[in-house]
Amino acid sequence: MHNHLQIKDWGLGLSGHTIIAGPCSAETPEQIENICQAMIKEKMIPSMFRAGIWKPRTRPGSFEGIGEEGLEWMEIVRHHLNIPITTEVGNAAHVELALKHKVDVLWIGARTTVNPFAVQEIADALQGVDIPVMVKNPMNPDLQLWIGALERLHSVGIHKLAAIHRGFSDAYDKRFRNKPNWSMPIHLKREWKGMEVINDPSHIVGNRAGILETSQRAINFGLDGLMIETHHDPDKAWSDAKQQVTPAQLRDILAAIDFKDTLQEEQPDQKLNDLRQAVDHLDDQLLDLLQERFSIIDQIGHYKRENHLTVFQPGRWKEVMESRTQKGVDKNLSQKFMKELLYTIHEESVKRQEKQLREPAKVIK
Ligand code: PEP
Ligand code: MN
Repeated sequence: MHNHLQIKDWGLGLSGHTIIAGPCSAETPEQIENICQAMIKEKMIPSMFRAGIWKPRTRPGSFEGIGEEGLEWMEIVRHHLNIPITTEVGNAAHVELALKHKVDVLWIGARTTVNPFAVQEIADALQGVDIPVMVKNPMNPDLQLWIGALERLHSVGIHKLAAIHRGFSDAYDKRFRNKPNWSMPIHLKREWKGMEVINDPSHIVGNRAGILETSQRAINFGLDGLMIETHHDPDKAWSDAKQQVTPAQLRDILAAIDFKDTLQEEQPDQKLNDLRQAVDHLDDQLLDLLQERFSIIDQIGHYKRENHLTVFQPGRWKEVMESRTQKGVDKNLSQKFMKELLYTIHEESVKRQEKQLREPAKVIK
C-alpha cells in the first residue's frame, strides 16, 4: 500500500537533498525580485522556491498574506531562477487559485494538517489533479494525524507526496519555537516506506542562530532535505523576521552542513555488515531472554491466580524500577531509556497476568 513517487521522481529536476528556500511571505514584487537577484548573486539557487501567499496567523490583525496577486509575482521566480515554486494552501479556494497560477508544488501548513475537515476539503479540490503536495506535521505530536492527512491526499490520487517536519508547539520548552521530535519523522518513514521528509529548521528554531545546528541534526537522522526561510533583508520581513536568513547566509549554512551519504543503506560495506550481524545476533539473544522472562511472569501469574492475589504489587514494582534503573545507569544507559524500557516490560507483564486472571484455569508448567 501507500505507493507514491519520491521527490527525485516528481519530474521537477530535483536530486540529492532537496533545498527549499524563499521568504516566509510574499510581500511585494520588488521583494520577490530582490530575493531572486540575491540568490543569483550568491550562486545560491535552491531546488525549489517557497513563499507564503495566505498566512495562517495566530491572532488577527498581523499581516495575513498578500493573496492572489502574490502568485503573479512568483512568476518572476520561474522566469529568473527556472526552478519550481511552492506555496501553502489552507482551503479549496486557495487550491483553485494556486492551480490557476500554475504553482508547481503545494504544501499544507501545520495549522491545517491538524484539521481533517480542512485536509479533506483540500484533497477533494485536488481530485484528478497531478500536483505534488508536501504535508507539514500537525501542531501537536500526533503521528496518526500526520499520516491521516497524507492518506487523504493519497486516496484522491495524489501520488507525489512528501512530509515536512516543522516541530511541535510546546508550552514549556522555550528553547525552540516548535520543539523538534526526531523520532516522529523516523516513525513516519518506518510506517510509510519511501516517504521523504523535509526538515524546516526555521519554524523549529524561530531564530537565525540555531538553524545550522538543527539542519545538521536533521541530516544526521536521515531526513531528505531542508526548507529554510530566506529573505534579502530579513530584519524588514513582514512575518517571521527573526528566523529568516539572507541567501548569502543560506549558502554558508549549507556549506557548513556535513551532508551524509544515504547510499550505505542500499550498499553497506563489509565493516557495517559485520557490525549489523553482531547486532542481529544480540537481538536474537534479547528475544530469547524476553521469552524466558515472560514464561516466568506467566508462572507468577498462575501463582497469583491460585492465591487470589492482585496482579499489580506496587512495592515490588518500585523496587524493580529503582534497582534496575540504577544498574542500567551504571552500564552507561540513560535513565530515561531505562525507565521507558522497564515501564514497557512491566506493562506487558501486568497485562499478561491480568488476562490470566480472566481465563479459565489451566495448568502452567
Ligand atoms: C510557513 O511555512 O511559513 C508556516 C506558516 O509554517 P507552519 O505551518 O509550519 O507554521
Ligand atoms: Mn514563516
